[in-house]
Amino acid sequence: MIEDVFVLQVPFRGTYRLQRIRFGQGRPRLVVVAGLHGNELNGIHAVHLLASALREQRPIGTVDLLPLVNVFGIEDGTKRGPFEGEDLNEVFPGHPLGTAMQRVAYAVLEATDADVCVDVHSGSPLVQEMPQVRLPLAGPEVDLGRATGLPFVWRRPTGGREPSGLVGAWRALGRRGFRITGGRGGSLDPRDSVAMANGVRRLMAALGMGSNVGPGETLVDVTHDEITAHRCETGGFFVPESRVGMRVLPGHLLGRVLDPVGGEVLETVRADRAGLVTNLRVYPMVHAEELLVRVAALR
Ligand SMILES: [Zn+2]
Repeated sequence: MIEDVFVLQVPFRGTYRLQRIRFGQGRPRLVVVAGLHGNELNGIHAVHLLASALREQRPIGTVDLLPLVNVFGIEDGTKRGPFEGEDLNEVFPGHPLGTAMQRVAYAVLEATDADVCVDVHSGSPLVQEMPQVRLPLAGPEVDLGRATGLPFVWRRPTGGREPSGLVGAWRALGRRGFRITGGRGGSLDPRDSVAMANGVRRLMAALGMGSNVGPGETLVDVTHDEITAHRCETGGFFVPESRVGMRVLPGHLLGRVLDPVGGEVLETVRADRAGLVTNLRVYPMVHAEELLVRVAALR
């Protein structure tokens, strides 16, 4: 059942509708949100795939999907909203009488009152990310996130608990929530969407919601200090010599930074640990201190 859970009149653009698709009834209750960032298409398509699976096999309990929150950004191919460029994931918990985006954020929080809550994203348009779940260092979300079986489990001290983000707002209300992400923004990689959709289906199985999907394979399950982030020293034009999912040994050539004008090599980037390439810059122009490659220690 598709329902409008919030409607906002928008100047020159007709009516904004926050839509929710509900499958099943009763407990347990799972909600999956995508499209807070309008250009993160892998996450949006992951929810399409979930909807398709749920039409075939009804869940035990209730699964709510909010597939397209920031429809303004999706239409325009941008991450943020049109109203003063607000980032929807920085205005939680929102306000019913605030700016348009604050009202949307408030409505998202109202419409996602479930036991377990998942926020699905893609990487930025600049960096390719291995399908992953981002978790706090401890707490009930850790086992839930691991149940997704996604290739990359990343536990961080903040763990997405920033109170202005959706995951942080869920946790402030006592809901168990976390974020999954994969691929890059601004383009669609259906394989990443499939990986994330299957991750949510494994979570459903772990919650006793009756999803039939094969086992996943988590390749790396690490905290922040088990990841090396290679950042650019000088700025330039980055040419990768590695790819996401590649296993590397210390000294492995990961890429080079060239002078954008003459192509002279400015930096050579080599792995300093044995591990797996989990994040890789795919947009070559890079400023100093920006991310080039992440290598995570293998299990
Ligand atoms: Zn995002």
